[in-house]
Amino acid sequence: MNAPETIVHDVARHAADFPILSRQVRGRRLAYLDNGATTQKPQAVIDALAGFYQESNANIHRGVHWLSQHSTDLYEQARERVRGLLNAADSQEIVFTAGTTGSINLVAQTWGVQHIGAGDEIIVTGMEHHSNIVPWQLLCERTGATLRPVNVTETGELDMDHFRSLLNGRTRLVAVAHVSNALGTINPVAEITRLAHQAGAHVLIDGAQAVAHQIVDVQALGCDFYAFSGHKIYGPTGTGALYVRASILADMPPWQGGGDMIRTVSFEGTTYAQGPQRFEAGTPNIAGAVVLGEAIEYVRGIGLDRIADHEEALLAEATECMQALPGIRIVGTSPHKAGILSFLVAGIHPHDLGTILDTEGVAIRAGHHCAMPLMSRFGIPGTARASFALYNTSEDIQALVAGVRKAQKLFGVGLDG
Ligand code: PMP
Repeated sequence: MNAPETIVHDVARHAADFPILSRQVRGRRLAYLDNGATTQKPQAVIDALAGFYQESNANIHRGVHWLSQHSTDLYEQARERVRGLLNAADSQEIVFTAGTTGSINLVAQTWGVQHIGAGDEIIVTGMEHHSNIVPWQLLCERTGATLRPVNVTETGELDMDHFRSLLNGRTRLVAVAHVSNALGTINPVAEITRLAHQAGAHVLIDGAQAVAHQIVDVQALGCDFYAFSGHKIYGPTGTGALYVRASILADMPPWQGGGDMIRTVSFEGTTYAQGPQRFEAGTPNIAGAVVLGEAIEYVRGIGLDRIADHEEALLAEATECMQALPGIRIVGTSPHKAGILSFLVAGIHPHDLGTILDTEGVAIRAGHHCAMPLMSRFGIPGTARASFALYNTSEDIQALVAGVRKAQKLFGVGLDG
């Protein structure tokens, strides 16, 4: 059995794979704790990007020449790697997108437009990222449907009684974050899916903050759609994927028209490609998808279960250290949390705190975290947020705590502790 320290040490060994972590920022060792916004990239991923253009670049699904077939094979292999990451039943259930935002908008503009009409209801939650709110608001404006947000409790959990009371015969979709980017709460998405399906609704899970931090199994969850971003799982920006259950995908109308998404085109009428290609019009981000596949291999090589344990240990340590300081309020105190610590320091605005921490080489996020309704719920303009990744260490946490102490001294607050 591993002691938590052993797990922390073991996984964080891989920090050496990330060249950016050894650079200095403002003359200080970089403590990168803004992983909820984006993760750094290991050398294997950086090399894979250059490697693709050096060795494999050609357009996909079109050419008869060797290089085009080779690049198509790599692209489709990446699709298979995404399938493996999510444990989808078939790689044809995986659509490449530009990220979580792209994935959610795709569902809203295709399946949503087809299945949601006036008088229908979409349930979201009060802790969603704007990208799992605004696409549904746009759809509601267009169709006359209504958005119903689930209340968030004082500890930053979903009020499941409220959720149950919102479900009814008009509910068409439940769109919920697997992990809250602002609070770290891991939502009971399997239970939510079960209840939603009982009520006849479909379920979309926003996995942006989950896939790099725990094992995800869409078949076990039973969800209909699962969205995530490549850049939050050590892959390139502008990449991501959407899982769509095969029976739903088969029936979804196309969204953007163009090359690659068709079967035949004529002025009498056009027919569309089957499978995920129907939603990948034009030349996609081929290199990005291939390199996302490499990032997935990298993460799975370390083991998402080990990464989850490591980040849980970091969260526990950071929570304890911060709670030991005077004037700290942690926002989001669910017992089920991923590696995200949102907090307020009495007498210091989160932006000022972020700026002072930056002078110490500590990178955190400060603000509303694209979750303004959640901030309103707590009656706060924003929080400071430290979010962990596989390469973080106790040293990063100590730098954070020392930086907060420094800020308190500068502001003349919290001096009693
Ligand atoms: N949902 C959640 C929970 C997120 O944390 C984020 C990114 N902060 C998004 C959606 C949007 O992801 P992207 O900007 O990569 O599309």
